[in-house]
Amino acid sequence: MTYRPDPERYDSAHFRRVGRSGLKLPAISFGLWHNFGDTTPLDTQRSILFKAFDLGITHFDLANNYGPPAGSAEINFGHILKQDLAAYRDELIISTKAGWDMWPGPYGRGGGSKKALLSSLDQSLGRLGLDYVDIFYSHRFDAETPLEETADALAQAVRQGKALYVGVSSYSGNKTREIAAFLKERQVPLLINQPAYNLFNRWVEKDLLAASDDVGAGIIAFTPLAQGLLTNKYLNGVPQDARVNRPGGDFLRPEHLKDENIERARALNEIAKRRGQSLAQLAIAWVLRDPRVTSALIGASSARQVEENVAALNDLTFSAEELAEIDRYAVE
Ligand code: NDP
Repeated sequence: MTYRPDPERYDSAHFRRVGRSGLKLPAISFGLWHNFGDTTPLDTQRSILFKAFDLGITHFDLANNYGPPAGSAEINFGHILKQDLAAYRDELIISTKAGWDMWPGPYGRGGGSKKALLSSLDQSLGRLGLDYVDIFYSHRFDAETPLEETADALAQAVRQGKALYVGVSSYSGNKTREIAAFLKERQVPLLINQPAYNLFNRWVEKDLLAASDDVGAGIIAFTPLAQGLLTNKYLNGVPQDARVNRPGGDFLRPEHLKDENIERARALNEIAKRRGQSLAQLAIAWVLRDPRVTSALIGASSARQVEENVAALNDLTFSAEELAEIDRYAVE
């Protein structure tokens, strides 16, 4: 059956300007790290993506290595894009990244060299079936490559018309400032920074939020739900269908699920209930409480989760008392 997006999808959607650029992103973006490889039926993938788009999510975040197997998320997304979403390409922001292991030999082992980044971008475009992506990221800082070379590769991607904007992921505050300066010399602004940020991981608050703001880049916070820990999923044990029990789910490690964290999640869940929110909704709203955060980059394994999570946008305000109480449980 032909997919027809909800005609009211933009009526109550929230968009935020990305740093000092002209681009706006939805306050909630959707990532395809998990659940979009070959182990998830395409119809399930479709139902999640369509729900997201119907709810005003226009930004879909990928990377060369998302799967499993690596590359399959781009292939599957490209397939759905071509079959069902081609007419909406100009309503979509599609991102990809390069920097982690992808193909054999020194150039496919990631990093930030021009060879690694630009070859990977060409491969991503091939898998996605696109002429260009909207945002191309250096997925990680690479101490073995001069940052100027990484900046050069990103700027070249823009000059070649293969990316409209560029970003960096998991860079420190200082490295963010450095690469932004190198990019500026090349007349390509750093659009956005993609770090981990959630109630259990607040490293960006030290200096990354300020550094990004200073250079005019937005922030898109990945794993705002701590991979599911900040939802009702693990409050009463580990369900069989949880990410930890699926291929590639080992990034959520046993130490993340230790009793102390579950206790904290339960306490935060009580605060969420008082606000009339689920824990997932509180966690997303909390990340977005800082206007320097452009977007919360969520994942989901079902359309129902997307629906619940997008409803976080109905209440993004916190009282000072609530924030102080949340702080008691939100330590790293
Ligand atoms: P989240 O923290 O949003 O975790 C998503 C997972 O939480 C889901 O897969 C699901 O787990 C669970 N979940 C979500 N909503 C609910 C709900 N309402 N109720 C119960 N459980 C829920 O983010 P991800 O870890 O998925 O990362 C999001 C995106 O961030 C990635 O897809 C990727 O685009 C990006 N990312 C970037 C990185 C980088 O290095 N730049 C690194 C990691 C992520 P389950 O599947 O068990 O149901």
